[in-house]
Amino acid sequence: MKTNFNHIQSIYWVFTQLCNDNCDHCYNDSSPFGKRISEKDCLAIIANLPDKIDRLILSGGEPIAEKKLLFVILDHIKERYGNSVQIMLQTNGDLLNKEVLQILIDKGVTRFDIASIDRYHKKAGSRLMELADIFESCGVNGTEKDPLLEGGHYLAENPLSWGYWGANEDMWLGGNWARGKAMKHNIWKKDPNHNFCTILSGARNFLGGYDDIPQEISIQLWRINPCCPGTHFPMGDARKQKVATVLERASKNAVFKALNDGEPLKMGESLGVNRKKAAEKNEELQNICLYCDYFLKCHKNSIFDKNGIKELP
Ligand code: SF4
Ligand code: SF4
Repeated sequence: MKTNFNHIQSIYWVFTQLCNDNCDHCYNDSSPFGKRISEKDCLAIIANLPDKIDRLILSGGEPIAEKKLLFVILDHIKERYGNSVQIMLQTNGDLLNKEVLQILIDKGVTRFDIASIDRYHKKAGSRLMELADIFESCGVNGTEKDPLLEGGHYLAENPLSWGYWGANEDMWLGGNWARGKAMKHNIWKKDPNHNFCTILSGARNFLGGYDDIPQEISIQLWRINPCCPGTHFPMGDARKQKVATVLERASKNAVFKALNDGEPLKMGESLGVNRKKAAEKNEELQNICLYCDYFLKCHKNSIFDKNGIKELP
């Protein structure tokens, strides 16, 4: 595990849950009525990020639905990090046009991921060729069209590239997190053997130490999480706490160390909950993230105090 948390490979930041779409499977409740945070909060979060970040993925909601705030964020990221961070934008692409794309490029975005090419989104992928033309017209023509899901895929050689994907029966919809609208609409993955935690977007490697996937955390609006689904209690508040300090605290806590290993069933070992007992509860709840929620709620006072994550050998 790392000891210097002032350098992180990847941060996935959902800075808005406002979205022009309203998909049934959306894990974070984004919609035209989705939650938003203020510009002041966003600037406080930028000031609290680690000193060195290799890649920053800005997402939502739909980031372009909050264009003005997105531009302010990009300006402040540039001011703080110069060109040392690769900025990626995850968007449904619905609101993207040539003018907006050129501004985003000028403000430092080098990678665009269209995450809506499927039948579950409003436009059902129908804009793909139009988007291809828009990217081509602005010189965004890197050859990497696949989703950036594999370990080494960051700091790409080509400075400007785009890719696309969508929900299908295997990914996102197939492995749908028990969160947000997916939970409300009862389309979450009911399979106790499916361990989201150990794959990219899960908690594995959020503290570093593994080299098969990037060290990545997510910030959901302001909630600092080890993973994209988000733990029931966040690790910290990025508006008020330095992310590096929060990660350092997590690195001294046995529960979060088990999550870093992608092993939620072992998160209770230091608190007398063995793997067998955890597996039984997980079987009952049918989903590893629901087990994780249950465990954190049961042991909140052993894991957290008023300053955040406690030391727990
Ligand atoms: S899945 Fe994406 S496009 Fe659909 S509501 Fe959520 S953020 Fe918006
Ligand atoms: S098990 Fe917990 S830490 Fe792991 S992905 Fe699910 S919510 Fe995140």
